[in-house]
Amino acid sequence: MAYLGEPQHTIAVLQKYNFHFQKKFGQNFLIDTHVLERIISEAGVTKDDFVVEIGPGIGTMTQYLCESAGSVAAVEIDKNLIPILQDTLSEYDNVEVINDDILKVDIAALAQEKNGGRPIKVVANLPYYITTPIIMGLFESHVPIESITVMVQKEVADRMQCGPGSKDYGALSLAVQFYAKPEIVANVPPNCFMPRPNVGSAVIRLTRHKNPPVCVADEKLMFRLIRASFNQRRKTLVNGLKNASDLSFTKEQIETAIEAIGQPLTIRGEALTLEQFAQLANEFSNMGHS
Ligand code: SAM
Repeated sequence: MAYLGEPQHTIAVLQKYNFHFQKKFGQNFLIDTHVLERIISEAGVTKDDFVVEIGPGIGTMTQYLCESAGSVAAVEIDKNLIPILQDTLSEYDNVEVINDDILKVDIAALAQEKNGGRPIKVVANLPYYITTPIIMGLFESHVPIESITVMVQKEVADRMQCGPGSKDYGALSLAVQFYAKPEIVANVPPNCFMPRPNVGSAVIRLTRHKNPPVCVADEKLMFRLIRASFNQRRKTLVNGLKNASDLSFTKEQIETAIEAIGQPLTIRGEALTLEQFAQLANEFSNMGHS
């Protein structure tokens, strides 16, 4: 039975193993059963699912996942947690604990091996110091994903969900929204964790698009335009693209492309929607750029 969501059980396990939290691994363990139940229900986990959990910690959410999923693979970097997980997960036979760095694990191969290549669900209370590389890695490395339901820093959840006009709008918003539909499904205060983080948290669900929401001939070029625009977000789009070291357009070409998508030459990149970045990339592709 899942029991680690109760703070006294977590404390007992930490004491039994004399476990010391490692700040460098972003270790903030969940100690709130309502939040845990909410994450599992928002992730829509069923017995048909193979779930990858990133950073199981002492196995708090893993216990819930084992009870609701068909099978679970939990990837944990901290070797000190492995004997603890063997203990706290001993009554479940549908979980494999992998002692590795999630950024080095071939999740596509794991999905192939464990789920016959069918789309998987990712559920996690993420280590906040590597939220962006984890999420972008999952999307960009062609892992078959159905959804990603994760606890992240509140500010990062806002960045993933917002559009033009918000101060949080940036390259992460556009990248996430190109691949998935983001929905913040819960806000979680620091007292739901041990130790307490010094930032607010939120659970966000990213449901993978079945078809891309925009038509773009060269995705890589579009993302280079996006990065260049937001690297210098106080500059106009013309200057942002002209100054970018990995783009080699002339000022005239940039102005022609911006006019072709019906935008003024004074516009800043931060004002463009995903659709408009796709159109801009297509204009450059049509000029023969890649
Ligand atoms: N899931 C547990 C919970 O909710 O109580 C722990 C979540 S804690 C925020 C993040 C976990 O990710 C820690 O157990 C930490 O050791 C682990 N972790 C940190 N960096 C990692 C990495 N690169 N690969 C795999 N796990 C990592």
